[in-house]
Amino acid sequence: MNKPASVSDQFDAVVVGAGFSGLYMLYRLRQLGLSVKGFDSAGDVGGTWYWNRYPGARCDIATPDYTFSFDPELENEWTWSEKYATQPEILDYLRFVADRYGLRSDIQFSTTVTSARWDEQEKRWTITTGHGQEIRCRYYIMATGCLSMPKSPDIEGAGRFAGQVYFTSRWPHEGVDFTGQRVAVIGTGSSGIQVIPLIARQASQLTVFQRTPNFSIPAHNGPAPADRLRQLDEDRDGYRHDARWSRIGVPNEPTDVLGVTASEAVRRERFEAAWEQGELAGIVNVFADQLFNPASNDILAEMIREKIRSIVTDPETAETLCPKDHYFGTKRPCLDTGYFDTYNLPHVRLVDLRKQPIVSITEDGIETADESFGFDAIVYATGFDAMTGALVAADVTGRDGLSLKEKWAAGPSTYLGLMTAGFPNFFMLTGPGSPSVLSNMAVSIEQHVDWVAGCLKDMREEGLDTIEPTELAESGWNQHVQDCGAITLMPTANSWYMGANVPGKPRVFLPYIGGVDAYRQACDDVVGQGYLGFRMTGPGADRCRDGVIRSMQPDVAMVLEFLAAMGLPPMDTLPADDARALMAATAAARPPGPEVGEVTDGVIPGPAGDLPYRLYRPAGPPEGPRPLVVYFHGGGWVLGNLDSDDPLCRDLCERSGAVVVSVNYRHAPEARFPAAALDAFAAVQWAAANALELGGIPGQLAVAGWSAGANIATVACQLARDAEGPHISGQVLICPVVDSDMTRPSYQENGDGYILTTALMRWFWDHYTDPADRGEPRAAPLRGDLHGLPSTCIVAADFDPLRDEGVAYAHALEAAGVPVRLARARGHTHTSVTMVGTVISGAPVRAEIAEALRNFFPSAEPLEHALQRS
Ligand code: NAP
Repeated sequence: MNKPASVSDQFDAVVVGAGFSGLYMLYRLRQLGLSVKGFDSAGDVGGTWYWNRYPGARCDIATPDYTFSFDPELENEWTWSEKYATQPEILDYLRFVADRYGLRSDIQFSTTVTSARWDEQEKRWTITTGHGQEIRCRYYIMATGCLSMPKSPDIEGAGRFAGQVYFTSRWPHEGVDFTGQRVAVIGTGSSGIQVIPLIARQASQLTVFQRTPNFSIPAHNGPAPADRLRQLDEDRDGYRHDARWSRIGVPNEPTDVLGVTASEAVRRERFEAAWEQGELAGIVNVFADQLFNPASNDILAEMIREKIRSIVTDPETAETLCPKDHYFGTKRPCLDTGYFDTYNLPHVRLVDLRKQPIVSITEDGIETADESFGFDAIVYATGFDAMTGALVAADVTGRDGLSLKEKWAAGPSTYLGLMTAGFPNFFMLTGPGSPSVLSNMAVSIEQHVDWVAGCLKDMREEGLDTIEPTELAESGWNQHVQDCGAITLMPTANSWYMGANVPGKPRVFLPYIGGVDAYRQACDDVVGQGYLGFRMTGPGADRCRDGVIRSMQPDVAMVLEFLAAMGLPPMDTLPADDARALMAATAAARPPGPEVGEVTDGVIPGPAGDLPYRLYRPAGPPEGPRPLVVYFHGGGWVLGNLDSDDPLCRDLCERSGAVVVSVNYRHAPEARFPAAALDAFAAVQWAAANALELGGIPGQLAVAGWSAGANIATVACQLARDAEGPHISGQVLICPVVDSDMTRPSYQENGDGYILTTALMRWFWDHYTDPADRGEPRAAPLRGDLHGLPSTCIVAADFDPLRDEGVAYAHALEAAGVPVRLARARGHTHTSVTMVGTVISGAPVRAEIAEALRNFFPSAEPLEHALQRS
């Protein structure tokens, strides 16, 4: 081939890729009046739909949704023939779009971009192509797709086979006729599941090599869904708006039915409806908790397995096709047409690679641990180096010679999945850290392109010409992406979402799972806050509003939204008894907390009458005494009781292995300061004196408390020190009240909107103490003498008005020589760490508390020693 002569050219923007995203990006950049050059290594437009031409290739988002929506006229001019269009039809559509807007003239096909290098002096990118061209541009945009870089076959002997070799991701344009052939297919992901039934129609023998069975539901293809078309007809804008503000980019009301609590009839009805509907949007929305709660997921997974067993006649084959090693939805679920039925055909065989792994590809076929197979053709449906593969392959070098590959060696790092620090003016469409592959790509692509186009327009209007995220904003976003993944079951699977399908690829959750709606809001908020987290420069201009756009744990944010929607009256506007009733009502609706070995209620003598207690003993061995923890509930000295903190006590007991004795105490305003503190001290004295009877090890006693309960717990420690007993091994103070000074920054930052408000805190103080007493160490222990106090673990939550006094207490204790562990509850509020079973992200903090508790006690100390010591 003749190599075209080198040319040097200048453009405002270069766009790599001419699929859905590249085409729309070109269109929008042109609208802005920018000069643009597009490249694609393919011979024409189409992106993924250009390459993946294997028989059976179809979209798996219904066509009314899998389509451009930016131009109503375009929508009117194109009619899809099916619910799930075939690859040729989707390719025709993209050609039609390219022609309609005259986009081809700006695209150079059959051209691979081999490198891109940022020139800091010129503030421009230099793009080099495989043809030796060099192009200069201000903005470099990769529209290279999430699933475009085929995974190389990591199978021994892959190059040795003398027959025909095909990859679903690089299918011959002229098609393949398998008639009369012995064919092997390796891989049973979406591509394999689509291609297998079609190859089975032609091949004389088809052998499918399956490593991991996949969940698949029938697509029930046919005409485009009539209800959807009618809605679009009646209110296109409303329909598109709903899609843009939905969870996965398809209008769909999220269910609130929990799999674990729904009746068998409801479970069955919801599942059968989703099975009949044949849409991903339906099957991912059978239960609200299916992606969070293993038990709920198991219910759904088992119903799918039942279906597989009912379709596949040979029981052993059916069982091999039943996915059991991953939760439903943690690997991409598939839609199929006759996939499982294919295994009922006499010439189709399934080989379970878990039982007989491939040893090698040979000249004639495939050798497994047990058998040698001869084939005429091998089809690889083995997937892609997803989300990052195409981006790092393009040799992108940013400021100071840093390559994207180097920067991402431990996993991708992006701000909003759009940009990455050190690479100015470099945009990724649907990059890692954006909803992309977890959504309807058509919607996510349009959102990204619109965002980039809006950004470039804003920059031009403000005379700016470079943009780049800050390190802080980027690391904050990466953390948020991981936090969103961590509360789901997604990280448990060896999926391409986790990079687990490519040997050596770092194991990081790649897409953003917080939802298309939440993501769009975050992007809009970034712009609304003056491009928060971006540094933008121009001639004589340099502006940066640094910050993190989302730092709250995603499940904490969900709880706050839920509570806000309930419209409950603020506690501080209620009489104490009404506030108590409200707290009891909300507590009754919570999950119960984990099972423990034994729970018994009793009373202990207090300074002014009996105090109720509840004792929690861990299940299982060892039999015999254990360390003892005396716990005090939260509630501002006014609210709360043994029930209010019951799930937390169970959790502490189960995690720490200690006997937990939760003690109720006198409440204000009926019994004001220092009643609660004196009760706490009395309870500790009683527990120490009765340790053996309680199942505790004498001398191994800690105190713990949350909020005001932590206040009286630490006051009890100060009183015990002054009284020279009892011995307390440690104190755990969860979001403690330790001072009456309400002017610290955390009060300013978090005093409104996070359940514990400044107004409520004031209401608590007013109920408990006279202003004159508030400086007293028994009310404000931070102001007391802190020498000689036991080892301490303090939990301080980011969104808590009490955060700074907790931190101040930790520092003051440390200064007084007390060993202190400060556990930061990142992204949490005052209450969220205690929400066992509701706020999943609180679990690591509670695990840290339990570890601190265990460390307070000498391990495996024989009982006789403890008895002697005490
Ligand atoms: P995939 O989901 O990654 O599936 C690859 C398959 O090959 C898996 O079954 C995998 O097994 C197997 N495999 C990989 N390496 C292997 C090896 N060395 N030995 C044996 N088996 C091996 O790839 P895909 O099917 O191409 O789909 C990728 C994604 O593209 C989909 O999840 C979907 O998002 C998208 N897609 C969409 C459509 C559609 O819209 N309809 C169609 C096709 C693809 P393991 O699971 O054990 O790794």
